[in-house]
Amino acid sequence: MGKGYMGKILKVDLDSGNVSEESIPDEVYRQVTSGIGLAARLLYERIPAGADPLGPDNILAFMSGLLTGSGAWFTGRWMVAAKSPLTGGWGDANCGGTFSPAIKRCGYDGIFFHGISPKPVYLSIADGKAELKDASHLWGLDAVAAEERLIADEGKTARVAVIGPAAERISLISGISNDRGRYAARSGLGAVMGSKRLKALAISGRGKVEVHDPWAVRELNAKFIKWFKKGEGVKKLLSAKALNFMAKFMRVSPMGMAQKGDLVKMAMSRFGTIASNVLSSENGDSPVRNWYGVGFRDFSIAAHADKLNPQRIMDHEVKKYHCYNCPLGCGSVLRVDSAGLSETHKPEYETCCAFGALQLNDDLDAIFKINDYCNRVGFDTISAGTTIAFAMECVERGILTDADLGGLKLHWGNSDAVLELLRMMAERRGIGDILADGSKRAAQHIGKGSERLAMHAGGQELPMHDSRFDPGFAVSYVMEPTPGRHTNHGYQWLEMFALHRLFRKLPKTPDLFLVKNKYRVTKDKSILLAAASKYMQFVNGVGACLFGVQMGGNLDLPGYANAVTGWNLPPEEYLTIGERIQNIRQAFNVKHGITPRRDFMLPQRAAGRPPLEAGPMKGVTLDIDALHGAFAENMGWDRESGIPTAVKLRELGLDGIADEIASV
Ligand code: SF4
Repeated sequence: MGKGYMGKILKVDLDSGNVSEESIPDEVYRQVTSGIGLAARLLYERIPAGADPLGPDNILAFMSGLLTGSGAWFTGRWMVAAKSPLTGGWGDANCGGTFSPAIKRCGYDGIFFHGISPKPVYLSIADGKAELKDASHLWGLDAVAAEERLIADEGKTARVAVIGPAAERISLISGISNDRGRYAARSGLGAVMGSKRLKALAISGRGKVEVHDPWAVRELNAKFIKWFKKGEGVKKLLSAKALNFMAKFMRVSPMGMAQKGDLVKMAMSRFGTIASNVLSSENGDSPVRNWYGVGFRDFSIAAHADKLNPQRIMDHEVKKYHCYNCPLGCGSVLRVDSAGLSETHKPEYETCCAFGALQLNDDLDAIFKINDYCNRVGFDTISAGTTIAFAMECVERGILTDADLGGLKLHWGNSDAVLELLRMMAERRGIGDILADGSKRAAQHIGKGSERLAMHAGGQELPMHDSRFDPGFAVSYVMEPTPGRHTNHGYQWLEMFALHRLFRKLPKTPDLFLVKNKYRVTKDKSILLAAASKYMQFVNGVGACLFGVQMGGNLDLPGYANAVTGWNLPPEEYLTIGERIQNIRQAFNVKHGITPRRDFMLPQRAAGRPPLEAGPMKGVTLDIDALHGAFAENMGWDRESGIPTAVKLRELGLDGIADEIASV
């Protein structure tokens, strides 16, 4: 009888070129699902403490999800995991597209790479045969060109994950591409792949995912679609102008930041993440001018932000882009003649903000070019944009001179200089060599007090959601095993997740409609942040998309998991599975020498020290100790250090880890 997972992984030893299979017992899936859960379980055991993230002992895992290929909506994400060279601890990233189901069609739940190849190689899987092939002819090609070449060589059914030249040159802010420039961008895992001289995976297979109860999956799909299709008419009213109006209203009103699943559904299917472009710069969600500016003053709608209006971007849409088995399709393929791009992916909100409001750049064509360039060479656009904003402020404050930059005039809003600097970073020329490893290392190199301008947590650049606007992110950016990430939880996410609908014992989402409520650290909010943290690990175990999860609890992932596996567990048990995965990830960090609350710190600015003098967050300073302490307690972690307690680990059946962590 089907159970959704394939029951085995592929192991590739890059030192020797040996390829072998390993069966995974059923009880392991029951304990941690598949996807990021299985990766966490195996990498915790198999990467030795102190391993060099760029050395042979690091293991790079490409994972599919438990529900991928089962027919369940929104479950086509693939995940990549390894020890992160950016943070020195647990690293993972995920991406949509079409690569995840291909892993399962090849008969595996994951593909694990160990060692370092003596020469550039790629993994080919075709007709049931897995082998390493020479990639000398691909080395140096950008990610899109290399993918085209691999599909020409391996056949049209091949699905490709590939790195660009930035990752080949071990830029610590590089990611891994699939589907012509969609990225698993974070944690610096492109650099791990580059360090292994692994250019790509090009895989195809004909295997089928067997499901315990396909009818139950169909019923859940039908129920979701019924809700999803409601309000199609209203969606058309959600124009860019309406979003601008909402933005202005949210800035001046005492209303908070509540965002319900229905609004997410409409905004995401109409525009994708760029729906936030103007909204967020006006209401305070977007960090501006390297986190010391104020949106409505420094990047106002009238003078700047409206130039990045979502409708102006959608005017270039050639076709919608859907990841595997996604009913929404938040992506778009664009043609932008004015930027000289015949085919390019729509930039995400994070990219528009990191190279827009954060750098005071309102040149939309430049953002199209920057996005396309980053996708080709392989930069994480959040980290690259933030690192360049850091350099801009260094120039403004006289810490860096034009001479340090090889004559580049890196002033706010100078997008030509940004494009040239990106080239220098990708080629590791001049100052680009220093900036290519992110803002933390650049600040350490530059010194002169620049450290306080580097907007990272634990080495990873902060995303484009201001923690002074949403204090939930002040928790997520530091207390998660992968710091500096927005895809786990924030207070806004709680509204969208509506977890009480899936897990009846959880409190209802706290009321965030009033601004004055959002800065209060309350018991219910802390419980819900911890629940969201656990839930997201389950989400990443099954391979689901965050945007599906943000649809007000209408995507019933526990129901799908029962239908696909036949486990028939109460929903709360899936929250426990997520909690188990999260504790393994956090324990991984401890095993590798990280004390979470000491080593992952929020930059002072992001906590409102000093507070902003104008705008929606005027005067806001966050009570970081209360926020982090309450979260740690609700996770069963030591309040002062953030280390999982032995009691919690044993409660989750992780006795071996409890023993090991106690001895660290
Ligand atoms: S919502 Fe967007 S990112 Fe998520 S699966 Fe659909 S197309 Fe992909």
